Amino acid sequence: MMKINENFLNLKDSYLFSLVAKKVKEYKEQNPDKKVIRLGIGDVTLPLAPVVVEAMGRAVQEMGQRETFRGYGEEQGYAFLRQAVCRYYAGKGVELAESEVFISDGAKSDLGNILDLFSADNTVLIPDPVYPVYVDTNIMAGRKILYMNGNEENNFLPMPDQKVKADIIYLCSPNNPTGAVYSKEQLERWVDYALAQEAVILFDSAYEAFVQDPSLPTSIYHIAGARECAIEFCSLSKTAGFTGTRCGYTVVPQQLIRNQTSLNKLWLRRQTTKFNGVPYIVQRGAEAVFSSEGMRQTKANIAYYLQNAKLITDTLKELGIWFVGGENSPYIWLRCPDGMGSWEFFDYLLVKAGIVGTPGAGFGANGEGFFRLTAFGDRDEILEAMARLRKLYHA
Ligand code: PLP
Repeated sequence: MMKINENFLNLKDSYLFSLVAKKVKEYKEQNPDKKVIRLGIGDVTLPLAPVVVEAMGRAVQEMGQRETFRGYGEEQGYAFLRQAVCRYYAGKGVELAESEVFISDGAKSDLGNILDLFSADNTVLIPDPVYPVYVDTNIMAGRKILYMNGNEENNFLPMPDQKVKADIIYLCSPNNPTGAVYSKEQLERWVDYALAQEAVILFDSAYEAFVQDPSLPTSIYHIAGARECAIEFCSLSKTAGFTGTRCGYTVVPQQLIRNQTSLNKLWLRRQTTKFNGVPYIVQRGAEAVFSSEGMRQTKANIAYYLQNAKLITDTLKELGIWFVGGENSPYIWLRCPDGMGSWEFFDYLLVKAGIVGTPGAGFGANGEGFFRLTAFGDRDEILEAMARLRKLYHA
């Protein structure tokens, strides 16, 4: 008889967003005249930049002509896009070879797929709270998971503990859900720790485009030694509104060697075996993101979200509510006022102010008592939500 992968039975049901949706639906049914404002959205809301749409339109036309039609492309992405990514990194002071860049259909797939390269008996170190994909993909593979605590004392930026031994380390900066960003010195300590343990860091930089402070690293490769111990995952989802268009990239440096084996070669082998590439049309759209006009247009969208974030953080400061994030990130992570639990505050905010956020407890045990707000919404709605919040706390 066929046997299933029983590790799947160890996954916990994720009821976070379904329970949020259920509670909002019930509230709306009971209060049909009240307007609900959603500050829990984890998806972008602004459309693709015009240069991206034009580039994809041209690519569609090419696909419809015999002379310019394209079938299968290189699994790791067209050279034009890998070169564009290299130029983008060069602009940040990081030199990459084209062979180190792999184009993907988004960071989520590669974060899961990369685990094909690692044996099941590796120990994994994951921050708590965090983006749930890291935990679930390792549970599916039956790996031992250790957690590192994010909390108020470390501003939700856990640091290495020399007593803890780990082989695979996840770092996400700027972080989802907390919006916290590691400094250069903090990442240097992580790279030193990983090198000493011969571990591999899986660095998720999906929100790097939101970093405004020039002293903060936007790539793990800003840190000396990272090329010997880190793989970086990035995405155009939040950088350029590609959540529905799907394109990202993963960097596997040539210097990353374990068991005398190049991880770059293993990943190329894995991708050419199990993946047939991202659509040509999408890759042309992604290439346009990295053009100077594309950068200008996509940065304008990011500026809009960051201005939304500022409206939220200014209000929290005024009300004396503790928070992290929001300055170099679309996420704001706050401590629930008056010692409330995450879900208690969710209900309170919904009933008293018609505002929907995301309970921190849904992102790990350390998220209990905290709450995530996001800046991806509409400006006028955020202004109204902040006015409601002020009224609630000044009342
Ligand atoms: N990494 C983090 C931290 C995220 O928050 C997300 C999406 O929300 C992703 C990766 C996935 O991004 P993509 O749309 O590229 O799959």
